Amino acid sequence: MTLALADRHGRVATDLRVSLTDRCNLRCSYCMPAEGLDWLPDDSVLTDDEVVRLVRIGVERLGIREVRFTGGEPLVRRGLVDIVRRTAALAPAPEVSLTTNALGLARVAGALAEAGLARINVSLDTVRADTFATITRRDRLKDVVAGLEAAQAAGLGPIKVNAVLLRGVNDDQAVELLGWCLERGYELRFIEQMPLDAQHAWQRDQMVTAEEILERLAAAYDLVPASEPRGSAPAELWSVDGGVGTVGVIASVSRPFCGDCDRVRLTADGQVRNCLFARQESDLRDALRAGATDEEIADRWVTAMVGKAPGHGIEDPTFLQPDRPMSAIGG
Ligand code: SAM
Repeated sequence: MTLALADRHGRVATDLRVSLTDRCNLRCSYCMPAEGLDWLPDDSVLTDDEVVRLVRIGVERLGIREVRFTGGEPLVRRGLVDIVRRTAALAPAPEVSLTTNALGLARVAGALAEAGLARINVSLDTVRADTFATITRRDRLKDVVAGLEAAQAAGLGPIKVNAVLLRGVNDDQAVELLGWCLERGYELRFIEQMPLDAQHAWQRDQMVTAEEILERLAAAYDLVPASEPRGSAPAELWSVDGGVGTVGVIASVSRPFCGDCDRVRLTADGQVRNCLFARQESDLRDALRAGATDEEIADRWVTAMVGKAPGHGIEDPTFLQPDRPMSAIGG
């Protein structure tokens, strides 16, 4: 019998985001400090078999139709290609995608495509090497560009590029970034900076808003709201210059879309989070390691979803940032 990951507000989760590791090989200033974080101990992280078992339960029993692997940086997980292959082989076959910073992607893009990966999102906030090094604290822009090219050559399109604009750092580069992506056939989406940094330094009045981003883009491009319905997609889309491409804005803070959310998250240590901003998690790992049946795990997962909050509440004065940062939850 298939259960549904439904909550009390009429939403049903069908899109599973799985963090494969909390570790990352970049140190983006808006995500984590230069020295990194206290990484999860190895034995608390789900093994490849445990990840695939939980994903299988989601797909076979709970109506999960899309599975996106993320992190941390999923490409640093050794078993990634095999996890993708086993996930893509599940029935009914889910759509399998990856969110990555693309370091090392040039080497594995072909293997990932062959394993059944359908789509890829690459995070890239600037195409200037100096700004890249400032934001990520690593001089690796060339590797990201090579990763993007390899992904395209491997047929992992349409490739989406996700960018965060930071005031005084790269907020003057929106037009340049869009031009670069349009030339290469990548779909660019700007994401508003969210209060999910490990340092808890996010400030609402410092955030570059969707409105500002669109104003900047509109100075150089003709933008028309895209005709296709948005559905549960986080990005609002615009057609650029009569259809030469599209650009998206994910306005999680200034124009929240929680009412249409169809996502559920699984952390690298086996905790279900019913919202990116949830302050509570539900442990599946201990149940799994204690010998729970698929049915018992599915029941726990269903229970974890029921209490999903109607909205993230960032604009509420009582909002509290989750204890775990984005890198540990899985972005
Ligand atoms: N390492 C992978 C990557 O770079 O795509 C996956 C994890 S990373 C946390 C996923 C996305 O979250 C990236 O696009 C990153 O820019 C974004 N991100 C991290 N912290 C953020 C924040 N505070 N607000 C908005 N986006 C954030």
